Amino acid sequence: MSTNWLDFGAGIYALLGGSNIGVIISEGRAVMVDAGLDRSVSRKALREIEALHARLEALVLTHGHADHFGGAGWLAERGVPVYAPPLEGAIAAQPLLEPLFLYGGAAPIAELRGKFTLAQESVRRVEPLIPGPLTLAGLPLTLVPLRGHAPEQLGVAYGETCYCGDVVFPAETLARHPILFCTDLDAWLETLAGLPALPYTRFIPGHGEPVAEIAPLAALNAARLQEIRTLTWEALTEPRESSEVLRVVAAAYDVTFAAPQFYLLALTTLHAALTSLQRAGAAVVEMDANRMLWRRT
Ligand SMILES: [Zn+2]
Repeated sequence: MSTNWLDFGAGIYALLGGSNIGVIISEGRAVMVDAGLDRSVSRKALREIEALHARLEALVLTHGHADHFGGAGWLAERGVPVYAPPLEGAIAAQPLLEPLFLYGGAAPIAELRGKFTLAQESVRRVEPLIPGPLTLAGLPLTLVPLRGHAPEQLGVAYGETCYCGDVVFPAETLARHPILFCTDLDAWLETLAGLPALPYTRFIPGHGEPVAEIAPLAALNAARLQEIRTLTWEALTEPRESSEVLRVVAAAYDVTFAAPQFYLLALTTLHAALTSLQRAGAAVVEMDANRMLWRRT
């Protein structure tokens, strides 16, 4: 068995990699949580399940980012039913939506067509999920709302374990990518504030190592989001376009975007911060000579 296949006992497993995959097995029936970047990763997880003489009966996607669902199409072709929150599942069914969102709805540039932002295989049919209890493959699961990083992200809890998608990033990732990808900053902060009270003793995030205590990582991620929001507000010393604001915020973190896709991912986060400021009445947007300018109130 591979060294990054973790067995926590009681039918709880994880395959750690570029993005992590969760597996729950009981009485020979298995549920997988997320499918990895591509078919090579999901195939690896499937082999581990088969080596345990279990049958994969369901795949649950936490959210519609290609590094988490890229391998789902391959599993679906093999007859594995795929489940996801509706908006996230729409992206798994139509992977082009992800680079379309990142490029403001226009035909995406070549740089957004790599497999990290455009999954190479789609899932023909995705069953919609809502938060709450759900039995899949005979396993009593709880679907936990974890909105913010992605609009409808869900965690999957079984017993005292919660596979929690990208609700937190490890410290190393935050150091490497200070402007973490965010679609709704307020929703994410609310989610992070509620995380420590969740009744789980093992959290398996989509990236990095599993942790017993989620509070420190929740605090770290929340602090970064708050900081980005503050830096965004501070950048509005004069009315600015969002791209100018991003330049100021990136400079504060000493970030230089090496390619357009990294810039566009960060711009989404910056837009989320501006929306948050608008909701709070701390900033307004207005047109001026065909410039869409943000200014403090
Ligand atoms: Zn993600």
